[in-house]
Amino acid sequence: MPVKPSQDWLDFWPQERDVIYRPERIRYIRKSIKFDGCVFCNARDNGVQVESLCVYKNELAMVVLNKFPYNTGHVMILPTRHCGDLTELRDDEYSALQELVRTTVKVIKAEYGVDGINVGLNMGRVAGAGIPDHLHWHVVPRWVGDTNFFPLVAETKVLPETLEQTYARYAKHFEKVK
Ligand SMILES: [Zn+2]
Repeated sequence: MPVKPSQDWLDFWPQERDVIYRPERIRYIRKSIKFDGCVFCNARDNGVQVESLCVYKNELAMVVLNKFPYNTGHVMILPTRHCGDLTELRDDEYSALQELVRTTVKVIKAEYGVDGINVGLNMGRVAGAGIPDHLHWHVVPRWVGDTNFFPLVAETKVLPETLEQTYARYAKHFEKVK
């Protein structure tokens, strides 16, 4: 059983969740991806396309949309290599990841006109990582007034755009990133 954090913690940093019901939004994508093995490695192997939710990938790092976003535009930055421990990343991987976090923040600011952005890494299941074996930094756009969203479960919140729309908004920026 995953250990659940206190509600206080949920209020300032979103937890990954086990079960989400939003079939009208995810059916298309769920059908397209096989879920044997690591979902992030699957996204990597399926390449940059909306079906994999992978919006950008290079040799060391990649950007994948969160299938169960806490807020519009929620993406994750992950090492291209399957690795679950920050201390086991090579220097070039770590640098590439930090660079990609910064690039993603620039894209979000340009595309979404946000009031703030959460950037964070949950290491280990007890810390809230839903997929602890493959590191992923959450990058979550924030707007004034959205704070009451986070304690809620997804089915009570209707996000203003679909994953496909979010993907298109990111893709047009990341197409230009080497
Ligand atoms: Zn993996």
